[in-house]
Amino acid sequence: SMVNAVYKNAKRGGKTNFTVGIEDDLSNSSLKIDEFINAAPAGTIRCKFWGLGSDGTVGANKNSIKIIGDHTNKFVQGYFAYDSKKSGGVTISHLRFGNEPIKSSYLIDQADFVACSTPSYLFRYDMVSDIREGGTFLINSIWSPEEIGAQLPAKVKNIIASKKLKFYTIDANAIAAKLGLGGRTNTILQASFFYLSQVIPYADAESYMKKAAEKSYKKKGDAIVKMNFDAIDNATQQLFEVKYPEDWATATEGAAMQVPFGSDYFNSTINPILEQQGDKLPVSAFTPDGVVPTGTTQYEKRGIAVKVPVWVKENCIQCNKCSAVCPHAVIRPTLASEEELKNAPASFETKDAIGVKVKGLKYRMQVSPFDCTGCGSCAQVCPAKEKALLMKPIAEVVAAEAKNFEYSATLPETKAEYFDTNTIKGSQYKKPLFEYSGACAGCGETPYVKLVTQLFGDRMIIANATGCSSIYGGSAPTCPYTKNDKGHGPAWANSLFEDNAEFGFGIHLAYKARRAAIETKITALKAAFERADYAEGVAAADAWLVGKDDTDASIAASASLISILEGCKDCGCDLDTLEQDIYKDKDCLVKKSIWIFGGDGWAYDIGYGGVDHVLASGEDVNILVLDTEVYSNTGGQASKSTPTGSIAKFAAAGKRVKKKDLGMMAMSYGYVYVAQVALGSNDAQVLKALKEAEAYKGPSLVIAYATCINHGVNMTGAMAEMKKAVDCGYWNLYRYNPSLLENNENPFTLDSKDPTGDFGEFLQGETRYSALKKQYPAVAESLYEKCKTDSEIRLASYKAKAAK
Ligand code: SF4
Ligand code: SF4
Ligand code: SF4
Ligand code: MG
Repeated sequence: SMVNAVYKNAKRGGKTNFTVGIEDDLSNSSLKIDEFINAAPAGTIRCKFWGLGSDGTVGANKNSIKIIGDHTNKFVQGYFAYDSKKSGGVTISHLRFGNEPIKSSYLIDQADFVACSTPSYLFRYDMVSDIREGGTFLINSIWSPEEIGAQLPAKVKNIIASKKLKFYTIDANAIAAKLGLGGRTNTILQASFFYLSQVIPYADAESYMKKAAEKSYKKKGDAIVKMNFDAIDNATQQLFEVKYPEDWATATEGAAMQVPFGSDYFNSTINPILEQQGDKLPVSAFTPDGVVPTGTTQYEKRGIAVKVPVWVKENCIQCNKCSAVCPHAVIRPTLASEEELKNAPASFETKDAIGVKVKGLKYRMQVSPFDCTGCGSCAQVCPAKEKALLMKPIAEVVAAEAKNFEYSATLPETKAEYFDTNTIKGSQYKKPLFEYSGACAGCGETPYVKLVTQLFGDRMIIANATGCSSIYGGSAPTCPYTKNDKGHGPAWANSLFEDNAEFGFGIHLAYKARRAAIETKITALKAAFERADYAEGVAAADAWLVGKDDTDASIAASASLISILEGCKDCGCDLDTLEQDIYKDKDCLVKKSIWIFGGDGWAYDIGYGGVDHVLASGEDVNILVLDTEVYSNTGGQASKSTPTGSIAKFAAAGKRVKKKDLGMMAMSYGYVYVAQVALGSNDAQVLKALKEAEAYKGPSLVIAYATCINHGVNMTGAMAEMKKAVDCGYWNLYRYNPSLLENNENPFTLDSKDPTGDFGEFLQGETRYSALKKQYPAVAESLYEKCKTDSEIRLASYKAKAAK
């Protein structure tokens, strides 16, 4: 009972590091209580796996549990801890295997085996402290056993040597790349685990793994199955033990731990959570209403890329397309004068900027290596004759490029007179007010979100439906929405699937009411200024009253009005109360840009009633639908946007009915601005549509095609995939601008050309379609055909509209 009491106390977080005598059933009569708590039944093997979200670690571990549970008499247990990042977050899998039932309802902190799939974790997390004496540590890294010592922080070396750990390294990324598995290292690391841990004889594990691989990948073709077999074989051959010297136990030198440092809020609240110590924060660390500061992803510096782009200045034509497509706002153009660059590091090479407005300035394209996900989208779109971006191993460039990026962040924002946001090139000189989100590497949605913030972010309010965009838009503890140099940036909030359009509409109505109230007050103020013969004041009030609904005019008028109000503050005149009343609501002087974001699951399906209601209202709000044609966030369920023949959950045998034409439904009102866009196909059209939608003084709907990991494509080519979709007529680009009706012009413009690409080839390039042929060959061809016919009918309806 004493042990029990101590045990309970320990579980509640009480002090545990003292010794108790246990007479009866434990052979060791002086176990430390920590050891007792963690003493598993004989034969239990406890393993921890540190992974990078979406790298397949969790999936491989679930598979290992299944293999052992299904094929042996052993008992198994798995617990998977991970954050809400779409990919690139930390995952920790806690696995126990034993000969007796496992009743441990707590996380592992005395592991027999720890593996890490991401080398940069060595500098961020303490992964070795909770390996038991003599346990095993495996790291996936590019370093050979001889090189790795120089890469380890001193504390890691101390622990490895003092606990006499068995230490192994494997370059799983190199093996995966060689075998054509891209970044999928999971099978290789799973084989290494079975080989080193000996939970079951390796020969058995090998045959079970191969059977499982065959079952999982059979649908994807024999080549994929073979690649996974090769991965298993290569893993054991290229696993190296690190024979470290004993003096590692007392080493004082080594690589520096990377401790991110940011605002006070970041240091006190966010960083403990990022360091996996969040459970120790008191409730009082959080605000009761859930409001958090924006601009905090910038401090994370996750360092998750294996390769990052390196700029080859000689080849660059300064188009800024790489910056436009980067899903993470990681690569940014710099324009600065030589004077501004006088303190630049030597490695911060520049070239003469091209263009009349920027003559005499210097240009550079800069990457933030620690924020890059290594998706390669930037290098893929680079149109230079010889690529001006080369993907290189991060280790080779990180030292110089991190310094260069740090320096570039100190430069002032590019002056508005140097660029024109009516071009993609120009738009990229504006600071993205959405950066370093936790979206999947190569995500097709986030470049749209980023572009909207570059255009309107400084006066923008976003209502975000639940879905991927709410997860990468607000993955606690950090926030990717941020501010410009003036401290202006989007305000963002997330509501539910079923009411987000109404939520955004409510925000709009609230501002409308506040602005109506302030209009009455400013009218009174103008009259008072007139009576006082205060000409400057009259002009400022008048400019606001005339220009309040025009973005640029309201920005200029608000600035002069605020400066007058600040100048007159508390002067003691009889206008003080009125002026102060206006001043306290100064946040609604500038015309706001109200945006309602969400995916197709929200807009076409669950939230459609609200979307329709808000569009019908005629009010000035903007809706951006990020259309992946599937519920991406919840794992790929079919939505009404899913086209015929696509495989999705709830449509495992291929969707049988056609995609809803949301744009056409919205156009039927006649007073709703509607556009369909695809960044990878026509970036200029995207920009035009977003600008027109925002400027239209009524409801606007922009439906943006977004390639997604759920489509089963290599995300490096997400933009090229969008282009293929448009080229073959699968997706069409158009704008319907009711403003044109005022001039008796046709409001509908079909922006995409007649299809020239091969429709069938496009479908076969995406697993969501190609898998149908393997699984349901009897229906596949007819569903593909129907998908094509649906597209042709849709295009014909657009052509008819364009011809009117
Ligand atoms: Fe951005 Fe991907 Fe290029 Fe990195 S590799 S800069 S994340 S587009
Ligand atoms: Fe230069 Fe290529 Fe980027 Fe264009 S896409 S700015 S050419 S690096
Ligand atoms: Fe990932 Fe697709 Fe969601 Fe983007 S839309 S974050 S690619 S699941
Ligand atoms: Mg979706």
